[in-house]
Amino acid sequence: MAACYDTSRTETAELPVRVRGRTVISTDAVIVGGGPAGCAAGWKLKQAGVNSIILDKTDFPRLKLCAGWITPRVLRKLGITAGDYPGGIKTFNALHFHVYGIPLPVLTRQFSIRRIEFDHWLLKRAGVPVHRHWVHRIEQKEDTFIIDSMFRCKWLVGAGGTNCPVYRTFFRKLRPRERKKQIVSMELEFQTEYRTKKCHLWFFQGGLPGYAWFVPKDDGWLNIGIGGKHAAVAEKKKGWMSVHYGTSLPVSL
Ligand SMILES: Cc1cc2nc3c(=O)[nH]c(=O)nc-3n(C[C@H](O)[C@H](O)[C@H](O)COP(=O)(O)OP(=O)(O)OC[C@H]3O[C@@H](n4cnc5c(N)ncnc54)[C@H](O)[C@@H]3O)c2cc1C
Repeated sequence: MAACYDTSRTETAELPVRVRGRTVISTDAVIVGGGPAGCAAGWKLKQAGVNSIILDKTDFPRLKLCAGWITPRVLRKLGITAGDYPGGIKTFNALHFHVYGIPLPVLTRQFSIRRIEFDHWLLKRAGVPVHRHWVHRIEQKEDTFIIDSMFRCKWLVGAGGTNCPVYRTFFRKLRPRERKKQIVSMELEFQTEYRTKKCHLWFFQGGLPGYAWFVPKDDGWLNIGIGGKHAAVAEKKKGWMSVHYGTSLPVSL
């Protein structure tokens, strides 16, 4: 069952029609996935005058695991400054890389956000109707895509992330992805009284299966994690908390 929970719905964005006794929502474009890619697609399509809807299997705001580091280019592409963003945002004036244990501070302006807030804000800003619906089956009949016999469209956008059903249906055979090469993460995001403006990234250190990060966010939120290829992280998983980074993690953590 799909539920539409965005109040921005307009009369022309989606048109319920009866097909063989069933109500089907018909629109120009269906975007599968309401993450940053899907929101960007919806936002741009709306600007171009194309009616679209977003289908996402999850209710927003939704938790999204990711370091939450964004570059100035992301803000530029969104047409905003850090001050315009209504959620929590932290500005860094340097990134502290640690490569083979050698500290390499790089002066640069970067930002951190919480994905749970940022993605929800992007979705609202896109101004496109959102249906909570888990996409399973996509068919193509001539110039129409039919999704789970419930949605019809002329154009289909796959923005469902790693296991996107659009990719699975139309592109997996053409461009197979090896699971062992998939990048996975183990991470925590929590609030702490510890305050710092230093963002750290570690590479090739202490037996890390990939890389590790320490990304402070606004209002005492902190994201720490390890990312790497699936096979390498799985192998190291059991002992990861005991990895010694030998740098400035505060003792209280
Ligand atoms: C270890 C790691 C760290 C990262 N750190 C950062 C970082 O610091 N900064 C950064 O910018 N990026 C980071 N990324 C990349 C980050 O994942 C992407 O930037 C971003 O999430 C991609 O957005 P997206 O919209 O393509 O996919 P997603 O954000 O994954 O959104 C996909 C959406 O599709 C929905 N969906 C999936 N399947 C279905 C279905 N069958 N039916 C309906 N809905 C469906 C999901 O619910 C989800 O909401 C990191 C990635 C990894 C692996």
